[in-house]
Amino acid sequence: MLKTGNIPTIFKKQDQYFLSGNTQKIEFRQQKLKQLKQLIIEKESEIAEALNKDLGKCHFESYLSEIRIIKKDIDNTINNLKKWIKPRYVSTPIEQFPATALIQPQPKGVILIISPWNYPFSLAIMPLIGAIAAGNCAIIKPSELTPNTSKVIAKIINNYFDDNYIKVIEGGKDISQKLLKENFDHIFFTGSSSIGKIVMEAAAKHLTPVTLELGGKSPCIVDKNINVKETAKRIVWGKFLNAGQSCIAPDYLLVNQPIKSQLLEGIKEAIKTFYGEEPFHSPDYGRIINEYHFKRLSALLPQDNIIVGGQLIPQENYISPTVIDHISPNSPIMEDEIFGPILPIFDYSEIEEAIAFINQRPKPLAIYLFSNDKKQQKKILENTRSGSVGINDTVMQYGVLSLPFGGVGNSGMGAYHGKASFDTFSHYKSVLKRSFWFETNLRFPPYQGKLKWVKRLLG
Ligand code: NAD
Repeated sequence: MLKTGNIPTIFKKQDQYFLSGNTQKIEFRQQKLKQLKQLIIEKESEIAEALNKDLGKCHFESYLSEIRIIKKDIDNTINNLKKWIKPRYVSTPIEQFPATALIQPQPKGVILIISPWNYPFSLAIMPLIGAIAAGNCAIIKPSELTPNTSKVIAKIINNYFDDNYIKVIEGGKDISQKLLKENFDHIFFTGSSSIGKIVMEAAAKHLTPVTLELGGKSPCIVDKNINVKETAKRIVWGKFLNAGQSCIAPDYLLVNQPIKSQLLEGIKEAIKTFYGEEPFHSPDYGRIINEYHFKRLSALLPQDNIIVGGQLIPQENYISPTVIDHISPNSPIMEDEIFGPILPIFDYSEIEEAIAFINQRPKPLAIYLFSNDKKQQKKILENTRSGSVGINDTVMQYGVLSLPFGGVGNSGMGAYHGKASFDTFSHYKSVLKRSFWFETNLRFPPYQGKLKWVKRLLG
């Protein structure tokens, strides 16, 4: 077990290693990314097993949501890195002639990555890809709530990479707070909005830039002009994936009144088709992470308003896929992100009501709209604020590596995935190169008699 007293030493050694310049070479970055991908391929079954022990995730879900996306991000990064690291030449004003101006991406230095438990593998490794690509060193602190996955991450990284370059430090809140005392060059935090505030406060002491990937209540609006069966399937999949413990899961539904009963039937049908009559026995349906979250979710469940599911098995931390109706918008379940398999439904008559409902609450990480009506799509895009928008699907925007992923306001700041990760972990340094072969002397004192020439020549 690591003694917390070692943290300053580990940090200092990484800082020194960064200054050696090794991590900045493109060949070094590419080689480390290839090595990371190879290790993930070799350890796939160990990773999947750990995810199954920690979250009851099946191999298929782990592969799709935690492993494949990382392999794709690494491939995309390796293929584009040469292009991304090139300096970008920009124009210079006439008075600077002869000169060249350029923007040079430069690694920030030593990065701290703090990750959560819900996608414990990918949310620790995905930011690391960007940190390596941009030429940094990194320390990763995985979630203590998924100890098996944390161990596998530590094994992969600590056994195969130099501690001075990348290091996993396991532990909980205390270790996290010790790490936050160091003068990192960037902190990348994924977790709840409340802990995000603590991280930002700690970062402020060193004026360290932060990326905060937080949560929030992501609404899903369903207009009447849709394919009901497909809509129901896509909502049920996005909501009950990982037993509802996904940051961009639809938190609640806002359904256009005329379609509500039909949609509810579709949702019931999709739940049965996906997980069977008894989702408890489905190998494809997960469990709640721990007793604390099981109790938190159980307390949110209003017994009178359950229209689908509602089964609770405490010794298994099991909550069946659940839909609730006829609840007040002011009920406790509408206060914070649900982060579990409970889906409240509200209805609206005009899209403006749905927009007002969303805009009265903190800015969500995602907004979903099911509608084939371009006017409704435009209204949502123009009149709401959120990290991302998914039209006619849920969660899938996460898999588009060319789309930056991140929140806004209460759901976070900054973004990553693909090129956005490289940008997050790079400082774009402005460089001006001037030459000696020509000088007007116009800007140098004495100024007498020069103003008219400045105005005439330069404006
Ligand atoms: P959390 O905020 O409780 O913990 C996240 C990390 O912070 C963990 O590694 C934990 O050890 C550490 N931590 C906990 N308390 C701390 C403290 N006082 N000081 C410093 N570090 C501390 O979040 P969680 O419960 O692990 O994850 C669930 C939350 O994460 C949800 O809100 C979810 O929406 C959000 N999330 C967001 C994204 C995203 O990409 N935006 C992805 C996944 C999860």
